[in-house]
Amino acid sequence: MFESNFESEFLTPAEESKNRYRRLIEQAAQIVCASLPDGPYCGKSAAALRNLIGANFLPDAGCSVEDISAALRTVVSNSIAVSHPNTAAHLHCPPMLAALAAEVVISALNQSMDSFDQAPIATVVEQQLIRWLCSEAGLPSTADGTFTTGGSQSNYMGLLLARDMFCRKQWNWSAQKSGLPPEARRLRIFCSDVAHFTVDKSASQLGLGTDAVVRVPTDDQFRMNPMALRDSIEAVRAKGLLPMAIVATAGTTDFGSVDPLPELASLAHPAGAWLHVDAAYGGALLFSARHRGKLQGIDAADSLSIDFHKLFWQPIPCSAFLLRNAAHFASIKLHTDYLNPELHDDEGIPNLVTTSLLTSRRFDALKVWISFQTLGRTKLAAMIDRTIELAAHAVRVVRETPRLELVCEPQLSTVVFRYVPSGVDLDSDQLNATLRQRLFDRGLAVVGHTRVRSRQCLKFTCMNPAVTENQMERLVRLIVEQGMEVESEPGPPT
Ligand SMILES: *Cc1c(COP(=O)(O)O)cnc(C)c1O
Repeated sequence: MFESNFESEFLTPAEESKNRYRRLIEQAAQIVCASLPDGPYCGKSAAALRNLIGANFLPDAGCSVEDISAALRTVVSNSIAVSHPNTAAHLHCPPMLAALAAEVVISALNQSMDSFDQAPIATVVEQQLIRWLCSEAGLPSTADGTFTTGGSQSNYMGLLLARDMFCRKQWNWSAQKSGLPPEARRLRIFCSDVAHFTVDKSASQLGLGTDAVVRVPTDDQFRMNPMALRDSIEAVRAKGLLPMAIVATAGTTDFGSVDPLPELASLAHPAGAWLHVDAAYGGALLFSARHRGKLQGIDAADSLSIDFHKLFWQPIPCSAFLLRNAAHFASIKLHTDYLNPELHDDEGIPNLVTTSLLTSRRFDALKVWISFQTLGRTKLAAMIDRTIELAAHAVRVVRETPRLELVCEPQLSTVVFRYVPSGVDLDSDQLNATLRQRLFDRGLAVVGHTRVRSRQCLKFTCMNPAVTENQMERLVRLIVEQGMEVESEPGPPT
């Protein structure tokens, strides 16, 4: 006879089970609240963290609640505090409370977006939300899309569909069926010299190779230069190569710069190239009356990436891929008898596996819906505007601070700058790198770093509209103090 007490491991309609579920959720929230770090990070190195984690990942018998709580507290207290005012390195946001609550619902329901019979209402919510997003972006009624795990996957999808469409149009070739055509070596993808590295990554994963990516120079504001793009297209053509896609960036990761979308669109389409707009970061501007104009021309995109786990304050993962003409999803569509038999197409049963790279997939659309319902359009816009304004304030402070030098005008919510040592004999690139590492190791601040035209720079990525001007000023002062300390130490900075 099969006997067990496994029921207690699951959420069931029994009152006892529901109470246990509520208690566990409450306990988990308590642990997070009780152990949230005071600073941005404790400063521990990877080696020090390794020592905190035991080796017995699967004990013979389950551990006590106390031991489990202790393990969770260790994790919480050694994490990056994403809401701390001195956490300003990456496009890594503090998540909204409404979205955290939605996450509890998403996990408890555990719907899987691949087939309607695993996610009936979730399918409908995602479809309607995606179509609404398409219309907010100005795409026509032929548009559709899908939730993805991030800008990386969305960019990959855009280039995958672009490649397949090009092969069909140029050679009447199905890449889905026959793989790459022999002429695939001639395909070229254009993007700016500061576009995201996932353009290269996608090209390599798509069998085109990173050599297929042509990096086009940018102007002094790090926007793709349309003249240079035109010249690049001509140069590529002259060599018998084929412009397959142009990736425009709406909000570059380092500078927030937005490529001139109308100009790029007017070059892409006559050249027979797909226009993918990587708005992973800048897509949020769609919802800011004040800044929306910066995205002018985005409605010409053949495909579009928008990350909700950046300037929409959603927990990771939460991102969308939008496609101008839903018919292009056909190139990734496959039928499988157990999931989405062809019969379902005739019956009008939507199985979202046909428009995704994934099979099992989370109901991330719920977070966006609940967050948007909670905030409303006015407050969402105010949060986006405030975050951009905070970066503008940081710029003013950096400008007034003698030891700091602004590297470029801010365009979204990033601020790229350098610490300028007083001694001319100091290696300032090394000093900026040491400074950033010291801030991290001492648990004082988590700020970004990047290289701009071969100089080592510091970067704030402002992601938290709740940070005050004062807190921002204190962060800048802290950086200068630590910089002066590094500078004053004998020998090369280490
Ligand atoms: C963040 C970012 C990406 C990558 O997105 P993930 O969500 O991290 O996968 C792509 N492009 C740009 C411009 C980005 O800022």
